[in-house]
Order: sequence, then C-alpha cells, then structure tokens
Amino acid sequence: MTPDRRLLAPVIAMLALTGAVSLGRAEPGDAEVGAAQAWPTAQIPTRDSAQARAIEARITTLLARMSLEQKVGQMVQPDITYASPSDVRAFHIGSVLSGGGVWPGMKMHTPSSEWLGLAESYYAASMEATNAGPPIPVVWATDAVHGHNNVFEAVIYPHNIGLGAANDPALVEQMGHAIASEVRSTGIQWAFAPAVSVVSNLRWGRSYEGFGDDPALVSRLGAAYVRGLQGTADSSEGIDADHVMATAKHFIGDGATRNGIDEGDVAVSESVLRDRHGPGYYAALNADVQTVMVSFNSWNAEKMHANRYLLTDVLKNRMGFDGVVISDWNAVGQVPGCSELRCPQAINAGVDIIMAPKRWRPVYTNLLVDAKSGVIAADRIDDAVRRILRVKLRMGLFDRSPAISKTGARRVSTVGALEHRELARRAVRESLVLLKNEHGVLPLSPKLRVLVAGASADSLPRQIGGWSLTWQGDKITNADFPTGTSIYQGLAAALRAGGGSAELEVDGRYSQKPDVAVVVFGEEPYAEMRGDRRDLGWSTTNPADLAMIRRLKAQGIPVVSVFVSGRPLWTSPEINASDAFVAAWLPGTEGGGVADLLVAPSTGAIAQDFTGRLPFAWPLSAVVRADAAAAYPVGYGLSLKDLPLAAESLPEVSGLSGARHRSQTVFFDRGPVAPWRVFVGDEDGWHMELLKESATSPDGILSVRRADHLAAGDALHARWNGGGQAQLYLQAGGRTDWSEVLKTPQRLAFSVNVHERPTATVTFRVECVFPCGAKADITRLFRVSPLDQWARVTVDANCMAAAGLESAKVDIPFLINTTGKLEATFSYIDLEPAGPEPPTISCGSS
Ligand code: BGC
Ligand code: BGC
Repeated sequence: MTPDRRLLAPVIAMLALTGAVSLGRAEPGDAEVGAAQAWPTAQIPTRDSAQARAIEARITTLLARMSLEQKVGQMVQPDITYASPSDVRAFHIGSVLSGGGVWPGMKMHTPSSEWLGLAESYYAASMEATNAGPPIPVVWATDAVHGHNNVFEAVIYPHNIGLGAANDPALVEQMGHAIASEVRSTGIQWAFAPAVSVVSNLRWGRSYEGFGDDPALVSRLGAAYVRGLQGTADSSEGIDADHVMATAKHFIGDGATRNGIDEGDVAVSESVLRDRHGPGYYAALNADVQTVMVSFNSWNAEKMHANRYLLTDVLKNRMGFDGVVISDWNAVGQVPGCSELRCPQAINAGVDIIMAPKRWRPVYTNLLVDAKSGVIAADRIDDAVRRILRVKLRMGLFDRSPAISKTGARRVSTVGALEHRELARRAVRESLVLLKNEHGVLPLSPKLRVLVAGASADSLPRQIGGWSLTWQGDKITNADFPTGTSIYQGLAAALRAGGGSAELEVDGRYSQKPDVAVVVFGEEPYAEMRGDRRDLGWSTTNPADLAMIRRLKAQGIPVVSVFVSGRPLWTSPEINASDAFVAAWLPGTEGGGVADLLVAPSTGAIAQDFTGRLPFAWPLSAVVRADAAAAYPVGYGLSLKDLPLAAESLPEVSGLSGARHRSQTVFFDRGPVAPWRVFVGDEDGWHMELLKESATSPDGILSVRRADHLAAGDALHARWNGGGQAQLYLQAGGRTDWSEVLKTPQRLAFSVNVHERPTATVTFRVECVFPCGAKADITRLFRVSPLDQWARVTVDANCMAAAGLESAKVDIPFLINTTGKLEATFSYIDLEPAGPEPPTISCGSS
C-alpha cells in the first residue's frame, strides 16, 4: 500500500480555508518573522564569556577542516545495536543512542562495566586519526527517563506524574543529579529527558511522562530536572564530568493531541501552543538545556518535524536556543513527501540530528547526496554541525574519554547506589496522594495482621511501568530487579519490624482472617502508542478488583486500596468500597516508600505524613470531557492529620452508559470480542473465519489481516481485488444480551482508515438472519475520507433497530461488501451512546 500523500493536500487546503490551519505556513522571511515576535526570548544564561568565544572560534577552525562526509556523519544518530565502533569511525558518526529496551549485545543483564567498556570503544573509534578531518568525539544518548532505566540494577524513580504529585523541585534536582551520576558512570553523556509535556487528555499513553497539566508545575519541575542532569554551572563553563546533557521533549504540544492519540494532531491556536505548551521549554532553556527533541505530533495537520516556523524561526531564532535539535525515532518518515531514509525537509526545517536507529546508512548516504546537490544548503549543514560541536565542546568531550572521571581515574559504577535508592524511596513517599481515609484507618498499626492482595502488590513490572529495562515495560519479571522492593515486600518488612505480619494472596483469599487488607491494583505496564486508552474506566474493564474489595468488606475486613497507575482513572466504585484510597502512580524500584506512609513506625515516632497532591483532576466519569466535573480537583490530597470524617460517596456513573462496559456491545476492540468473530466471504463461500493473523476469501477476492492502530493487532486491514463480490463481517457465535445497553439510545460506531478508494459501490449492512436487516450505501465515505488517516464513523440507530436490536436478534452488526477494488483498515467496532452530532451513515431497511 503506497499512501498517496498528494491527495491530502486538498484536505489541508480546505482546513486552511476554514481557519483550522492558519499560522506558520508562510514563506520564511515575511509574515513568519512577524508572528515569531509573539514568542518571548528565553533568558538563557549568558554566554558572552571568554570561554564561550573560545568555543565558537574553535568550532570555526574545526568546521574549516572537516570534510562534508564528516559533517554529515555528525548529523546521523544510529542505535548501538546497528552501529559498531568501527561504523562510527568509518562514517564519522556524531552520536549513537540506546533507546527503550536496548542493551549492549542485546543482553538485558549486561553489567554496568560492559556499558562503560562499550562507551570507551565508541569514543576511541571516533577519536582515531582520519584523512577526512579532525577527530570529533562521539556522544552516546540514552532514554534515562526515570533513572538509568535501560541498565540492569539501576535505581528507578517514580515516573514524572508522581514527581508532579510531589511537586518538590529540590527533590527533582537531586534526583536529576543522581540519575546523571549513574548514566555518566556507564560512560553515557546524554539523557533524553525531561519530557515537559503538558498533558491535556489522560487517554494518552504517555500521560505519566508528564508532570501534570499545569504549565507552571511542568516548568518548575522541568527546569529542576535539567539543572539536576546538567549541573548548574552555566554552559560557558561547560557541563562537568559528573553530569549529562539533558533533552527537553517533545517539541511541541505532544500532550495535546486530539483524543490523546499518540503522535496525533494538535488542533490549537498559536497562543495556546505558546502559553500552555511553551512554558516548559522556556524553563528548560533558561536552565540551559542543551538539546530539544522534536515531537511526532502535527500542529494543525502539519508535522512538527517539517515545521520550519516553529523549529527555526521560533525555537532557534526567536527563543534563542543555540543547542541541538534532534528528530524523534524515525519520525522524519511521517513528513509528507519524506521517507525514514530521506527527509531534507526536516533538516531544512531546523532538525540538526536525525535519529535513524536501524537503517542509518541510507540516511547518511541520502543526506550526503542532498548536501552535495544543494537540496540542503551548505550553511544549513554548517549551522547544524556548529550546534553539535558546540554542545560537545561545552561537555568537554574533546578533552577526555567517557571512561575517565573528573579526577582522571577510571569511572566507578554508581548504578544502584544506596544513597540513590534512599532518594528514590523519599520520592515515592512524597508522591503518594491520599484520596480517602475514612475513620482514620491509616496509618496502620505495625502490630496488625495484614492481608496484601491485588495483582500489583508484588509486581516490580507493574509498579515500575514502561521505559523500564524494556521499552513497554513488558517481558520482565521481579527477577530482573534483584535490588528492587515490591510494595508487598516493603509492607512485610515494616510490619515484621513492628511485631505484625503480612500475608500475600494476590486473589484476596486468605487462610487466616486478617485485621485489615491492603489491595494493590492498577494498570499493566505500557509506553508510547500501546498505552493509549479509549476511555478512563477501570472497573468497566477490570471488574475483578472491585469485586475483591467488596468481598473483603462484606467479610468485615477494612480495606486500604493502593492504585498503581500511570494516570488517574475513573475509580469511583473502588473508592466508595474502600476505607482508604491511595494514588501511588508508578513508584519505581523503591516500593518500600509506600509502607513508609501506610504503616505507623514501630518505635513510637510520629508517622510520616502524606504530602502529595493531585497533579491532574481525578475523574468523576470514564468519559473525557473538557468541562467534566472532577471527583477530586487538582491539588487535592489528604494528610493523616485531616479530621477522620466519613467520606461522602461518589456517584457511580461511568458515563459510558453500558456500551463500553465490556459486554456484548463491544464487537471488535483489541481483536474480536467473544462471542463475536470475524469472517470473510465471496461467491465461492461466504463463511471463512479469520482465525489467525490473516484470511483470504475462497475465490481470493478479499484478503484480510490483523494490523495495528492504537495497539498491536487491534485493527483489520482489508483488500478487495475487484474480482467480484466479497465481504468482511462480524458475526456472533452465540446469543447476545443487549439489556444493559438499551437503557440509553445506542449507535454503532467504527474507525476506518482508507488506503485505496473504491472502484464500485460499497455497501454496509447490519443483519438479523439474512435477508432481514438494514443497509446503507457508504461509497461516499470511502471516496471523501482523507487517505491514510483514521476517522470515526457512526451509524444511524435505525440500522440496529431494523436488525432487531431490541429483540436481541442482531446477528451481524458490521458487514462491508463491494464488487470493486478497495483497501481500508477497520478497528474499534462497538455500540456507543448516541451523541448530539448526526450519525455519519443512515440506513434504509432491506
Ligand atoms: C520516543 C522518545 C524517545 C525515543 C528514543 C521515541 O519513540 O518518542 O521519547 O526518546 O523514541 O527511544
Ligand atoms: C525502541 C524505543 C523507541 C520505539 C519507537 C522501540 O523499538 O526500543 O526506544 O522509542 O521503538 O517506536
């Protein structure tokens, strides 16, 4: 499938006419410059020193001696798995990265000494004499986003959302310094952190990477993080050998995509972009951040990676950023007219380094071709390389191997240092938010017999979340964190010390009746893309936790709930059913910090108190709406000293009206939902089931395979070859129950992405038992939808009515039939409460 980007042009032009795209599209030099004036200049620490001037002079000398090959090599960043030290030497590679879940030799448990050894080899290779010009030291970057998280036995801190709850800049600065120490001790000099995302929609799977939704909070903590990572000496003095370069990311608006869809479109005005999403960057620049990573998202349909106005006119020229702008992982491939292998548009827009993890050789070759032909002007190349050399000189990289410390001795690993663990444990304590403490059930006496239950109680992976040894935080177990402490282990230690006891029973079935139960539950690990949610419901899709809490309560056992999650979710039923409720976010390896606040000290010392406050409102509904009321507002959080009042119970209306409670009404979500099954058919046989990854109708007319939309395998890619009539449909293998659903008017909905337009009429059908049902001609939908973009389609309620929804007769809720060619992907097929907007498709009965 070759997406024809040209066909998007009219759509964008149309959007521009309606005012949705109005800014930042003019030619450089005219209106843009005027518009950029609306962005203030950052207060970057002064660089007008003798040392700064010496650096610039040295760069000028170096540039004059460097070959074009060498310059281009500086601008390409491969992953360590795909570029060896000899590649670095041969191609004059300027930087390498270890992204999420990348370890030397792809061995997860690689000891820190081997990381250091590899850093040394890269450096040595880059400094070998070459005919191409002066040796330029390579710099290694890593995703150290909550600790040196790719490295075995590193201390993992709470994800940023927990730090937002703690709201303690001094703590964040100390943490940044501790992370820098671990990173530097493995020979790495650059951390892709902090994210200064201002998160607008908690459906976004990267919500936990942001500190909160208040730009002031994000700025305060983002700046502290940069100071911690880089040190506070301004860059005219350089970044010392105990610190690393920081990266403010992802520029700009990553947290504001429509519906929280990762890498999606941000449709806001320029003033919102500046005043809401900009402050974090100003704060980071003022703290002297040396690099900025561009975001995958688009702004008003224009990909950030090609946005010259924002990258060059605003960030570099107007705000005054003189460091390096790096592209995100293969992100240049998403720029219209570009591929992952070639994108002069991005460089011309202001990107200085292309992150090209795997196929970096063609990226290098194409860059060289474009530089030679003038598609990229020589002064743009020189500006990019000047910036790269500038940050390397400020880092002192020319002066010593990364394996050598300030004192001239070989570096000693600080990975997992005890004082870092203590700091992380303090961060956990400060991050916990107490939402409910009825009758003062907390703190627990250390003499109690405590049942510890729930899937997150003794799970390092769940309490650590994504970006932890692996990219998504999956494929790891407690055994991969031998120095970590689970929440259960922390509780057990505190109770043991006080004469009490802890019994771990994940399913809550105890052998001896406990005095109190601590139920620890919440999200499974996830990272970008896979963590996006369709709504904020918890019990709507995970009813077992609520059932357990209620069961324990019914047995007369007080319940303390600890919710481990990357974001606030709709948990009103769980909160109501619990005596106490603690939001623990993703605390990291030092789970003992939870027990520090849950269990009173055994010595009779005063219990440490909860000081964490919500960085986001806690939702009162599972549906995200800008004007939605909150169960608890931003800034809410109890302390133990608060009067132990009986809490008012929260209304238990999810807002999903039954449809999204995972019942018979979700037909296709991360795959077909039982009893619904996927079939393809043509004249040679109408009933061929999709059982594995793909299926083809008997006459070969329609091929369907599982594809990815928001999650792996959550979509159906279908291709009709035009050889005759063929159809894709969902059918139930058993009787369906609609009683819950029908309490509110429902509409069938599905997501569609059109890749190739139809050559004949396309029919949509809902059926009882054939020929009973309803149908609609939906050819137009496939003709007008922008190609290669997801759209949500809703179907008129009459369609379901005609197919016997009320009498539970619907047998096929979704069927697409055509005789011509068509290529499209479908996903998330379900019933949703009918909204006020008109449906996309209206049916006539058939
Ligand atoms: C993420 C970045 C990350 C980079 C390198 C991207 O997919 O968006 O946050 O730094 O990968 O792993
Ligand atoms: C890498 C991550 C990266 C992601 C981007 C993964 O394979 O390990 O670092 O962010 O791909 O898609």
